[in-house]
Amino acid sequence: MAKGISLVVNMVKRKLKTQLALVYSLLIVIIIACISTLATIVMNETFENYIKQAQTIKKDELIHNISQQYDATTQRWQMDGIHTIGMYALNEGFIIQLSDFSGTRIWDAKNHNMEKCKQIMQTIDQRMEQSSLRDGHFTTKQYPIKQGEQTIATLSIQFYGPFFLSENDFQFIQSLNTITFAIAAIAIVLAIMISFLLAKKICSPISETIALVNNIAKGDYAIKQQEQAQTIELQELLTSAKSLCKTLQENEILRQQQSADIAHELRTPLTTLSTHIEAMMEGVWQPTQERLQSCQEEIERIIMIVKDIECLYDFENNHLTLQKENIDLYTLVQKITTNYAIAMHNKQIQLHLSGRNCMVWIDRHRMSQVIINLLINAIKYTPENGCIDIRITQDKEYTYLQMQDTGEGIPNEDIPYIFDRFYRCDKSRTRQSGGAGIGLAIVKQVVLLHGGSLHVKSELAKGSCFTIQIPNKKNTQ
Ligand code: ADP
Repeated sequence: MAKGISLVVNMVKRKLKTQLALVYSLLIVIIIACISTLATIVMNETFENYIKQAQTIKKDELIHNISQQYDATTQRWQMDGIHTIGMYALNEGFIIQLSDFSGTRIWDAKNHNMEKCKQIMQTIDQRMEQSSLRDGHFTTKQYPIKQGEQTIATLSIQFYGPFFLSENDFQFIQSLNTITFAIAAIAIVLAIMISFLLAKKICSPISETIALVNNIAKGDYAIKQQEQAQTIELQELLTSAKSLCKTLQENEILRQQQSADIAHELRTPLTTLSTHIEAMMEGVWQPTQERLQSCQEEIERIIMIVKDIECLYDFENNHLTLQKENIDLYTLVQKITTNYAIAMHNKQIQLHLSGRNCMVWIDRHRMSQVIINLLINAIKYTPENGCIDIRITQDKEYTYLQMQDTGEGIPNEDIPYIFDRFYRCDKSRTRQSGGAGIGLAIVKQVVLLHGGSLHVKSELAKGSCFTIQIPNKKNTQ
């Protein structure tokens, strides 16, 4: 049956809502039709049995009443009584005939009123034909009338068998069938209406999801307030579509932000360069060694920013594979710090390197970049006569690099964003010092690619402490 239903429903392409409503309605109509048919059959059967019993009782009463009309002392029948009983029986649908033991007719309904007998038989015939109950026909049955052990007469009863309906019975069963039909029809109409409402309710989150996805396709990421779906899977679908929308929106904002940031970062050195060259071309400025040197520095700065952006792009898009090897992190840090000794000396910054030799599975070039970026920041943001402490430690699983400075510190509200691209706590200050806000974003990408993590603690005017944690073993790419 399920196959049949799906065949009917699948014949034409329809909306899910219509399909669901059709399937529900079809199922409900079938169920209601089955139930009402069954109820009608059971009701008719029960009513039939009740009528049969009632008619048997009536026949027994008839026989008993007739036998009461015999006077044993005079051995005569009371004809008035028999007549009354016979006419009453005729009105009830029983045509009786009483004969004595020799076969002589004592009383006969047909002899008495043939017209009425015919009319009653015709009415019963018509009624039974109209009713949905079982077919039957008129039969005659003989019943002995006894006085003690002796049979004194025979009563023939002609009736519609196995049973028949009186006018009242007929009306009753007709109204019962009409009521059952009406209830079934009302139930079907209600069920169809409820099916459509239910299908609409089920499909509304799907429609909302479709609308949402269509809006996303058009570039509209606004999420409207939607009602909760009652079905877990549909709610999950809606939630996933919303989170997709949110992610795309964030990516779009990030993309626009990134383009604006790149343009912003490049504009300053390019404008400086353009003004300088223009002034020299117009003869306002002499192209002295010092001025050419300044232009060269701006070009260097542009190249550096572009290189950083390229590098970050490669990291973020997994275009880079790490060339990992077993490296002593302590020795690596020692070498790098030596290269920055002059820079530290210029600001009278003290460097303390502590810890021990720790072998760790890293990409030498990329990890050097991490250490350099952190060290450059520490030098950049630490005032003269400050101090930088680097500590290398290791436990069973991880190697830790901790870099603590006595710099100006990072405001609490900026800490969550300092690893974001182009983020700078104090824009004007860092522009002067040359930072584009990419250094820490690169640090984060490299550390994450190594399967590690990084944390920062900072206090304004006291200093910052960056901690990097990297797995010792060969458990990442
Ligand atoms: P930048 O090139 O501007 O230094 P980074 O990504 O390296 O960019 O750093 C982001 C921002 O974090 C910096 O602009 C600076 O405000 C802050 N910062 C990073 N390191 C330190 C530090 N050691 N002390 C104080 N502020 C720091």
